[in-house]
Amino acid sequence: MLKLDTHPSGHHFLNIPGPSPVPPRILRAISFQVIDHRGPEFQALALKVLEDVKKVFKTKQPVIIYAASGTGSWESALVNILNPGDKILGYETGQFAHLWMVLAKKLGLNAEIISKPGDAAWRWGVDANLIEERLKQDTKHEIKAVCVVHNETATGITSNIPAVRKAIDNAKHPALLLVDTVSGLGSADYRHDEWGVDVTIAGSQKGLMLPPGLGFNAISQKAIEASKKATIPRAYWDWADIMEFNKQGFWPTTPNTNLLYGLHEALDMMMTEGLDNIFARHQRLGEACRRAVAAWGLENQCLDASAYSPVNTAILAPEGMDSDALRKHILERFNMALGTGLGRVKGRVFRIGHLGDCNDLTLMAALSGVEMGLQTMGYKPKASGVVAAQDFLKSAGNKIEREAESPVVV
Ligand SMILES: *Cc1c(COP(=O)(O)O)cnc(C)c1O
Repeated sequence: MLKLDTHPSGHHFLNIPGPSPVPPRILRAISFQVIDHRGPEFQALALKVLEDVKKVFKTKQPVIIYAASGTGSWESALVNILNPGDKILGYETGQFAHLWMVLAKKLGLNAEIISKPGDAAWRWGVDANLIEERLKQDTKHEIKAVCVVHNETATGITSNIPAVRKAIDNAKHPALLLVDTVSGLGSADYRHDEWGVDVTIAGSQKGLMLPPGLGFNAISQKAIEASKKATIPRAYWDWADIMEFNKQGFWPTTPNTNLLYGLHEALDMMMTEGLDNIFARHQRLGEACRRAVAAWGLENQCLDASAYSPVNTAILAPEGMDSDALRKHILERFNMALGTGLGRVKGRVFRIGHLGDCNDLTLMAALSGVEMGLQTMGYKPKASGVVAAQDFLKSAGNKIEREAESPVVV
């Protein structure tokens, strides 16, 4: 993008699954002058944003906002509720689930991860039965937290969180439930309170349509109680200090002022469209993308039809074609960025993001770029994915209700 010797005309297509494109309205909001983060104007904004953001998490409980990336919010979730050396249970659905447990180990936690054997691990959603079995074996209740990723961005897999909640309850196990919805929030249905999640981890740069830089922890009463006894050293991440300041509309440290202007704008946009309409839009775009993949004769990384992601689709490159070579070719030729294959699927998988500020024609542009890229790299698609996606989008109609769910008064 920052090619100083040339100006690429037209639109840059940012089709990675986060950071996602930031709508002009939000960019303008962010560009307002910085204000005093201890002054009355900021206070009014903060009180409003801290309240309104709860709607996106579907919670009535506190949401902590950090100046941090998603990884920071992983760390904050763990250090606020656990003791040094505590045992926790993760579930591998892809690179992010894996990295979260790597981070936990660096914090000195005893992280165990459930993985299906071989390639299956990265191709299926969370099997809640395996969690239930493991928790039932843990008769001494040594496992203090179960950590699952809602939308696994590396593999395009969305797991069933209520099923995980049920597994913990069936095992009559007191472990806290921690859920990463860094890429799911604001694009895929998510319900912190109803699903009984204790800590929800999120970030700004994916479904919320903001640049990177805000991290979130939505928390439960049970998590707050655990945090009062937790002894892992923590300072910047400490919920207690932040919650105390937040009551008055402030933070202990300097908050990310301009991204909070952006969050205010994003929440307004989302409430005007309505969360259910947003989720339906993403489901449609995901289905259209999968129709294109099937028409091309390519394979979806996710083999679990009940776990197809509405946020992004991970696709296996044609046999013998390096997926990063394809991505590089498409970037140079068509000015479109696609997501790389992460970890063990590096060079095999590329990913199309269809999240956040995305509609039928932005998806069609992406699919068109991929189809031309595949062809100019020498692959002969079985059929046109572009036409398959168009046929689906035409038949699915454009009947998304434009009814505000709960209008935000600006
Ligand atoms: C992007 C992402 C993260 C990491 O967030 P950063 O902002 O890059 O630190 C964690 N989990 C998931 C599922 C993600 O998609």
